[in-house]
Amino acid sequence: MEPNHLEKLMAECLQCKQCSNCCSLLAKSGQSPLDMTKRGITLYEALSCSLCGACETVCPKRLSPKQLFLARRREAVKSGEIDSAAYRYLLPDRKNNIMNAYRSYYGIDYSDVNSFSHAETCFFPGCTLMTYSPNLTRAIYERLKDSCGCKGVWTECCGKLLDQIGLQERVKDFRSCLQGFVQEHNIKRIIVACPGCYYELQDVFQACDVIVQTVYEVIDFAKQEQSDNRQYTVHDSCPDRFAGIFGSQVRQALKQCGFSTREMAHTQMNTICCGSGGQLSHFRPELVEELVKLRQQEVRETNADVLVGYCLNCVLKYDNYSSEIPVTHALNLLLGLQDDYKGGKARLEKMFSGSDGEKRWEEIIAD
Ligand code: SF4
Ligand code: SF4
Repeated sequence: MEPNHLEKLMAECLQCKQCSNCCSLLAKSGQSPLDMTKRGITLYEALSCSLCGACETVCPKRLSPKQLFLARRREAVKSGEIDSAAYRYLLPDRKNNIMNAYRSYYGIDYSDVNSFSHAETCFFPGCTLMTYSPNLTRAIYERLKDSCGCKGVWTECCGKLLDQIGLQERVKDFRSCLQGFVQEHNIKRIIVACPGCYYELQDVFQACDVIVQTVYEVIDFAKQEQSDNRQYTVHDSCPDRFAGIFGSQVRQALKQCGFSTREMAHTQMNTICCGSGGQLSHFRPELVEELVKLRQQEVRETNADVLVGYCLNCVLKYDNYSSEIPVTHALNLLLGLQDDYKGGKARLEKMFSGSDGEKRWEEIIAD
């Protein structure tokens, strides 16, 4: 943990437990973050935190209990308590990662649009979107070419996952590579569709002469009215809970296109994590199910017909857990495009089934 976070928490925590009211992990501990810090955070606790940031939004002293858990993950990687090699199939700084393997297996290829040079503006779809929703990725790119002269799809990961697992040193190297790529290609503007990538890249490029914008800022969705008679409710993503940029832009675009929306009990700054955060699916899958059920109950209470997400990780999470509540990505709605990410989990399982699947898995985890 950065000393300033820890020192601030030790000096200023009021032990009011307002953070425990919005977090089952803190509530179950029965202790304030100050007392937890004094007795030491367990690895089990660190891996049970979804890094959603809800605790930070309610704290009257603007403290960050989240940072306690993130710091514990980093320590555990350093001390070897977490064997990061066990997660190497996920890591974006390895060529043999699962996203690359999936795209290669299913013939998802962007080589016709990613060999750009001196493309001042490029599209950065992020690894989940470009892997599990290639039709949507290409449709967005086509609109961006018309809207802002975008010339190329940068098929890289933002690297956020390295930080969530606690691989601090690799985060630094990965960020340097991203900065080097931008310099080499003289990129001045990056358009993103994913809130996770947006805030991560804002950080990576804060000292560079590069603008990071959202697709909702650049594309005029109101040009085509797509409305229908259904009621929609928007799920806000954790990375957006503080600035609310995606949340407000998506609602605005839906309204302009004539879609009717209703709000759930927990939205925007108070949103509930879908369970994708902090790699919870790998560390504590049973907690993911709890979070999904909580959200589904809120959707039912609104009587909305469709749950709309603007991060494909959230959309996939809800889609995998429920066939009862229809889920869609905001950009599918706004562009009038059929979802193409459904069945991603089954396709992933198929890829690793049988003896060929076992060989494929061995290739992915080989050093
Ligand atoms: S980041 Fe989320 S899960 Fe972690 S302690 Fe804060 S509220 Fe709880
Ligand atoms: S809300 Fe803030 S001040 Fe209150 S117990 Fe939690 S960390 Fe301490």
